[in-house]
Amino acid sequence: MLSGKKAVITGASRGIGKAIALKYAENGADIAVIATKESSEALATIKELTSLNVTARLYVCDVKDADQVESVAQEIIADFGGVDILVNNAGITRDNLLPNLGVNDIDSVIDVNLKGTIFVTRSFIRNFVRKRNGSIINISSVVGLMGNKGQTNYAASKAGIVGFTKSVAREYGKKNIRCNAIAPGFITTEMTAALGESQVEEMKKMIPLGKLGRAEDVAKLALFLGSEESSYITGEVIKVDGGMYV
Ligand code: NAP
Repeated sequence: MLSGKKAVITGASRGIGKAIALKYAENGADIAVIATKESSEALATIKELTSLNVTARLYVCDVKDADQVESVAQEIIADFGGVDILVNNAGITRDNLLPNLGVNDIDSVIDVNLKGTIFVTRSFIRNFVRKRNGSIINISSVVGLMGNKGQTNYAASKAGIVGFTKSVAREYGKKNIRCNAIAPGFITTEMTAALGESQVEEMKKMIPLGKLGRAEDVAKLALFLGSEESSYITGEVIKVDGGMYV
């Protein structure tokens, strides 16, 4: 489905980003993985990807640093000879009730989740314009659509991604560049591993399908949106949440 395509995925060392990278590689795409460090997890991911007979390379970059993003983007474009798909997946949480949120909790979440998505997209957009083709997929969250107690900073960053996605879709549609967002619900990854057993049980009650999602569930939609199968879809926000927010 993605044979000959080149994809950049931020935050692909683990979790949802890794699942998307594996799904893309299984479908023939070469992958540039962006992560904050050359961790053993990140290196293991590269090993798994290359075992699928595609090219996969790790690029260390903090997406909230615009200068780092620009130089890594140029490096990736040169190494891969251009890019066809960008997945803005890197994200963090710093949850707390509003009065207890420190300035750093607010800044870091907005900086990584929202500004990081804007910086990375800005640094790759000329590449897509030159190709007159491209698919950009931003990982938002169902929380950005419905809100959530204890996640005001995170929900604001993810709602911002929705506005950004629709604006990119409008600004670049004529250049045949599509931009869509995925809004996952509760997906089992390191990000949600901190939740206690009772919290998970409470959550399940809110989900019509009665279970948490898997990173693979998000990856399946990312494959569709990255491929030509979705060639007439842009500016959309699609939930993968087991019906949590209907
Ligand atoms: P995760 O397991 O915590 O993985 C986060 C990834 O982002 C890691 O690869 C990490 O790289 C990378 N990252 C973090 N800060 C970064 C930075 N400043 N620059 C570059 N990379 C950075 O998270 P996840 O659960 O897979 O979540 C992935 C995305 O889905 C996030 O945007 C998250 O908000 C969203 N999401 C998750 C859920 C869920 O239930 N899990 C639900 C809705 C939305 P390192 O390994 O180098 O730290």
